[in-house]
Amino acid sequence: MKVLVINAGSSSLKYQLIQMEDESVLAKGICERIGMENGIFSYKSHTGFKLEKTVEMKNHEAAFHLVAEALEDPEHGVVNSLSEISAIGHRVVQGADLFMESCLVTDEVLEGIRKCARLAPLHNLAHIEGITACQKVFGKEIPEVVVFDTGFHATMPKKAYMYAIPYAYYEKYSIRRYGFHGTSHRYVSEQCIHMLGDPEHSKIITCHLGNGSSITAVKDGKCIDTTMGLTPLDGFMMGTRSGSLDPSIVTFLQQEENLSAKEMDTVLNKKSGLLGISGISSDDRDVTKAEEEGNERAILAHEMLQYQIEKYIGGFIVALGGCDAIVFTAGIGENHVGHREKICEALSFLGVDLDKEKNQQMVGGKGGEITKPGSKIKVFVIPTNEELMIARETKALCEA
Ligand code: ADP
Repeated sequence: MKVLVINAGSSSLKYQLIQMEDESVLAKGICERIGMENGIFSYKSHTGFKLEKTVEMKNHEAAFHLVAEALEDPEHGVVNSLSEISAIGHRVVQGADLFMESCLVTDEVLEGIRKCARLAPLHNLAHIEGITACQKVFGKEIPEVVVFDTGFHATMPKKAYMYAIPYAYYEKYSIRRYGFHGTSHRYVSEQCIHMLGDPEHSKIITCHLGNGSSITAVKDGKCIDTTMGLTPLDGFMMGTRSGSLDPSIVTFLQQEENLSAKEMDTVLNKKSGLLGISGISSDDRDVTKAEEEGNERAILAHEMLQYQIEKYIGGFIVALGGCDAIVFTAGIGENHVGHREKICEALSFLGVDLDKEKNQQMVGGKGGEITKPGSKIKVFVIPTNEELMIARETKALCEA
């Protein structure tokens, strides 16, 4: 069975064709700058063939035509005919309280995703465009599945997902914590449980540290709390996002700086976090370089990031009533030896016994345990694979 996984954004589209029998990637690529001049189409097949070309893609449909052509190409393609693709799985960011689980795409489901767009307009509308364009190019007879970033967090108890604002706003606007990166947290927590020997009960904290970052508390395989909230702005500082702050700062700055709601939103989402504090970059590699050169604000940015992560981990250990394992994943989590070392040191009094050498080795897509044998809380680096998780869910739903 071959499953095509799609992550459609407003101007980009990532795709991956996965052979489910051995979960290998047959082909993958990205369509960038859709609807703009100088679009970029890339394609890479499992045989090692690579293509990148500048080509105009008027819309998502045009982009999918290029994907289909590449997959079917007689020389460098990976299928003889598109009918070999059994199902298509789409990533959808916001499922709100309408979608607690992945599901097959129907007209009602599309309408539901549109309703949730109020909470994530850029993302959800782009996903709808991706799904409908996909149907046009690949045909309506291929089943399509939507997998929500919020789905894994649907098991949070109400005390974890409510905000202490007037209850009427929850009823009227569904304002509550939803959480994001759910597909990644689900994937790495499942892997972690497996690495622990598939125990019946487990308490795991998964740290997805990328451009956007979130931490999730997972009890017996189910999410009980997470750091991101109504939107991906909540939690701790990220590349350009502030994370949680005193809500009064928002109104204070709007008044003092005469900022509109939209401008304030830009400050919190695009100008804060590592970028805002370091003044250098949102990319952690640049901040690390500046830190090594002794830049004080880069040092501060990293101290803040590590401290905030440590506090959330500490809080989630209480929420879980203990902890068997902590997982680091995504760009920073999988590669930043220094952050992992500092965070593990701070947690050493709780029984985290870091193996510094193993920690050094775990970079560039390598995964494994980084604590010493006998460490009370084990720490793992587990490369995330959201595409594979979406493909697995898609397969499971189509077979059911
Ligand atoms: P996204 O949230 O966009 O998927 P990623 O998971 O790719 O983000 O993470 C991007 C972050 O990971 C950036 O801050 C980047 O600096 C960091 N990163 C990626 N590779 C490395 C590396 N080799 N060493 C340190 N940091 C890295």
